[in-house]
Amino acid sequence: MVDTKNTVKLQNGKNMPIFGLGTSQVSKHEARSAVRAALDAGYQQIDTAYNYLNEDAIGEVLQEYIKGGKVKREDLFIVTKLPMIHMDPKLVKRSIEMSLKNLQLQYVDLYLVHLPIPLAYDGNDENVFPTEASGALKVADKTDLIGTWKAVEELVDLGLTKSIGVSNFSISQLERICEIAKYKPVVNQVECNIYLQQKEMFDACKTLGITITAYAPLGSPGRNDLMKEQGESEGLEDPVIQRISHKYGKTPAQILLRFLIQKGTTVIPKSVNPERIRAR
Ligand code: NDP
Repeated sequence: MVDTKNTVKLQNGKNMPIFGLGTSQVSKHEARSAVRAALDAGYQQIDTAYNYLNEDAIGEVLQEYIKGGKVKREDLFIVTKLPMIHMDPKLVKRSIEMSLKNLQLQYVDLYLVHLPIPLAYDGNDENVFPTEASGALKVADKTDLIGTWKAVEELVDLGLTKSIGVSNFSISQLERICEIAKYKPVVNQVECNIYLQQKEMFDACKTLGITITAYAPLGSPGRNDLMKEQGESEGLEDPVIQRISHKYGKTPAQILLRFLIQKGTTVIPKSVNPERIRAR
C-alpha cells in the first residue's frame, strides 16, 4: 500500500505520494541508476512519459525490484503520459499498451494526457515531435480533446490505469473536460515553482477537485538561459530561499519543495544525482 502519511487523496479516493522522481531529459542509462537510487531511498512515485523515451529502462528497474522482492507493485505509484502523436482517440489504447509493455507493468497508477495539442501522427511511433519542413512542430489536422478524454476514460474501465489526468491544460480546457467527464481528471501536471505560482490555476483546481502536480518544482535550474541573460536568478540561488535555508538548516531545494507541498501539490523534482535524490 502507498504510505498514506506522505500522500494526498485524489478526488477518486486514491492516494498519491506527494514526492516523485522526475525523469524528463534523462537518458536510459541515467534513468536506471536514478530509479534505483529513488526506490532505495523509499520513493514510491516515478514520473515518466512515452515522450521521454526512457520507459523501457525504468521498466527494467521496476521488474528487478518487484521480482527481487525489494518493493511490491501495490506500493508503487507509476505515472506516464499519452504522447501528442497518439491523441487521436483510435490510437489511445494502443499507446498505453506500448507504455505498459515498456514499463513491464499490467497497469499504471496515473495516466496523463501530456499536452492539449495533438501532433500529426505519420505512422512512426518514435517520431514524437514531428516537424514541418520549416522546423515548426507539425500539429494534427483536428483537435478533439473531448474525444481523446473519452478514449482515456475507457482505459480505466479496461484496468490499464487506476487514475487519469492531464498536463499543461488551461483552466477552460479543464472545465470543458469536467463538464462531460464520466471520470474527472484527478491531476493537472503543470509547471509550478516560486517564480510561477499559478494562483488562478490553484483556485480553479480547488473548485474542480483537481490536484496539482508541480513540474519543474526547482525552476528547472540550468534550463532557462534566457532567464539568466535577463538577469533573473534561479530559485536555488534566490536570496530569500538562501536565507530561509540557512535559518532552518535545510538545502535550498528542500525549501523550494516544501513551499509547494504546503500549498497541497505533489512534486516531481528531477535528479540523476543519487545524493540529491536521497536528500529530499
Ligand atoms: P526541476 O525543477 O526538477 O529541475 C531539475 C534540475 O535541477 C536538474 O538539472 C537537476 O540536476 C537539478 N537539481 C535537482 N536537485 C537539485 C539540488 N538538490 N540542487 C541543485 N540542483 C538540483 O525541473 P524539470 O524540468 O526536470 O522538472 C521535473 C520533472 O517534471 C521532469 O523530470 C518531468 O518528470 C516533469 N516535467 C513534466 C512536464 C510536462 O509537460 N508534463 C514538462 C517538464 C517536466 P541533476 O539531475 O544533476 O541533479
